[in-house]
Amino acid sequence: MITIAFIGVGNMGLPMLDNLLRTEAIVQVFDINEKARESAKKLGARAFDSIHKAVAGADVVISMLPAGEQVRQVYLGEDGHVGMMGELSTNTLLIDCSTTDPETAKLVGEYAKKSHMRFVDAPVSGGIAGAKAGSLTFIVGGSNEDFMSAKAILSAMGGHIYHAGGVGDGQLTKICNNLILGSVMAATCEGLALGKSLGLDPKVLSDIVQQSSGTNWVLEKYNPCPGVSDGVPSASDYSRGFMTRLMVKDLKLAIEACESSPLANVQQAPMTTQALALFSMHLSQLHQDLDFSSLYQFYASSKEMKDED
Ligand code: NAD
Repeated sequence: MITIAFIGVGNMGLPMLDNLLRTEAIVQVFDINEKARESAKKLGARAFDSIHKAVAGADVVISMLPAGEQVRQVYLGEDGHVGMMGELSTNTLLIDCSTTDPETAKLVGEYAKKSHMRFVDAPVSGGIAGAKAGSLTFIVGGSNEDFMSAKAILSAMGGHIYHAGGVGDGQLTKICNNLILGSVMAATCEGLALGKSLGLDPKVLSDIVQQSSGTNWVLEKYNPCPGVSDGVPSASDYSRGFMTRLMVKDLKLAIEACESSPLANVQQAPMTTQALALFSMHLSQLHQDLDFSSLYQFYASSKEMKDED
């Protein structure tokens, strides 16, 4: 029986853990947040108040953290944190499912190689609904051999497991995906808010666009306009989901990637720059961190639209 250490059980990590617990593996959890650890315990996991206890005896480590900063802290021990890698056995398989900059993945990957461990970056797509359903898309960067080892573990939590290339290419692919998602969300909010402000029924508008050339994943699975779809963040005051600060992080990663690419000689990612400006402005006006589809509120803030909601 293998032992898996799971680090970071927030909005995504917790439902991923739930699916992992349905396998034969022993799962040991650490999160800096006590409430998150309690939630993991309620699912039946062994939860520890120190990362060092959680990784003891682990054959595999899975991390699901907010960003590259926390990934470097947890693995390498930056900013006064004591990293865990010194405590792991050789050949341990490290799978980072967080969305980070590709450089963080390469840094941890290099360190793992020097320490005779195996590392893949494996960011995900599919949101909380996909994490709950065990149908996430995993986008893996690493060697062929490490990809195959990681796939055997990740299949308990995902429906599609792709090999994007070497270490860091999973992150780069995910960044390109979220660049597209951010712009598509902004355009969908804008279209729905315009239609509604001019008297269209947003449900009818959404149904028609879904069968027309403007259709997209946001309209089908993540409608941002309250009252149109059930089971999406807009149906529950945008609580839980993919927080706006995380979309801002990913759009910044896309701009950074663009700046270091040949594309920078031609254009400075104009769509991403606009989307980042919109989400950043919206984030600065929020009283709490809400799902990124709450960008719809940014458009729908006129008195007439608020009165109708
Ligand atoms: P989250 O903030 O809900 O969860 C992160 C968890 O990590 C929290 O419980 C936090 O306490 C814990 N954590 C932070 N620093 C830690 C540390 N040093 N040691 C241990 N635990 C620590 O975020 P999330 O929504 O679960 O997203 C996680 C990652 O997945 C992000 O990189 C995000 O971009 C990506 N992602 C999220 C979604 C989504 O829909 N939420 C979808 C795809 C990808």
